[in-house]
Amino acid sequence: MNQFIEQLETFGQVELGVRLKDMTTMRIGGKVEYVSYPRNMFALAQLIEYVKKNDIDYKIIGKGSNLLCSDEDYYGLIIRLDRTMNHWYIDGEHLIAEAGSSIIALSVFAARNGMSGLEWASGIPATVGGCVFNNAGAYKTSMSDNVYRVLILDNGNFRWLSNEECEFAYRFSVFHKRTDWIILAVEFSLIEKDENEIRQMMDERKIRRLESQPLEFPSAGSVFRNPNSHNAWFLIDQAGLRGMSYGGAQISVKHCNFIINVQEATSEDVKNLIDLVIGKVEANTGVKLTTEVEMFNWNHMKIPHPSKR
Ligand SMILES: Cc1cc2nc3c(=O)[nH]c(=O)nc-3n(C[C@H](O)[C@H](O)[C@H](O)COP(=O)(O)OP(=O)(O)OC[C@H]3O[C@@H](n4cnc5c(N)ncnc54)[C@H](O)[C@@H]3O)c2cc1C
Repeated sequence: MNQFIEQLETFGQVELGVRLKDMTTMRIGGKVEYVSYPRNMFALAQLIEYVKKNDIDYKIIGKGSNLLCSDEDYYGLIIRLDRTMNHWYIDGEHLIAEAGSSIIALSVFAARNGMSGLEWASGIPATVGGCVFNNAGAYKTSMSDNVYRVLILDNGNFRWLSNEECEFAYRFSVFHKRTDWIILAVEFSLIEKDENEIRQMMDERKIRRLESQPLEFPSAGSVFRNPNSHNAWFLIDQAGLRGMSYGGAQISVKHCNFIINVQEATSEDVKNLIDLVIGKVEANTGVKLTTEVEMFNWNHMKIPHPSKR
């Protein structure tokens, strides 16, 4: 076994040659050399120190539900927290969850314990860390409404950021600027409520999602941010793009801010549809849409991974 893998294994489980396609909800993306699942936050801190020292490119991913990865291979390390850093506990009206926790599982747990605030999140296939990163939200509620504080790893130090310090805005947080900070855990402030009332709201939201979103196909949720003036789906619809296909990708007929992977779509198929939407909507309305989905590994460097040099 090479020394690099042996070193990685001291920090946690390592997988080789996994495809980003198998780590993202869009089900697109090339092969990754190494995936690491750090045992806990201390192992994660040491792992980050190690990769920085050795100049190894790395990327944290949650459930990959907001990523459009290129089909190229990634010569770096993907770090995932969802297998190991996924524990939570209640402290009065606060719920403290590790960043790799599933937000769906957490919202169900909160409901079962009569804690209200996360009902909006019960259909989002994401981790708590990814939801903080993007300030995910739905039904006029978002992560920022519930977050009390966030534990981060900053240059080898653990420290808490208050809600204000997270600089939450529409699908934005300070973590977009500070990509060197890692979200380790989140403390939520929730409200006591009857479990049945919470469940009823979650059930209603589930029905709305099933009716309005193409959940039967792989996707990354809404592709475009809503501009100030209108909903992005409305502008896409007005531009006559509902149902438009390119290769194996399609602008969903059910919800035209979703691009779905209908049949073995390539990353370029999706990218072509994104460019088409931006161009047509701008020509039609003068509004330039921007993506909510994050493009990952598109400007990769064609150099071998340090361990292979
Ligand atoms: C069917 C479907 C429905 C969706 N519905 C919604 C919705 O209603 N509302 C909404 O807002 N979004 C929605 N999304 C989009 C997506 O779920 C959110 O953007 C979510 O916040 C992404 O979380 P993730 O764990 O999958 O993060 P990923 O997509 O894996 O990563 C997103 C970014 O977060 C960073 N990141 C992840 N974890 C950490 C961490 N611990 N520390 C630092 N950075 C980190 C990654 O590096 C990356 O830059 C939907 C997606 C799908 C597929």
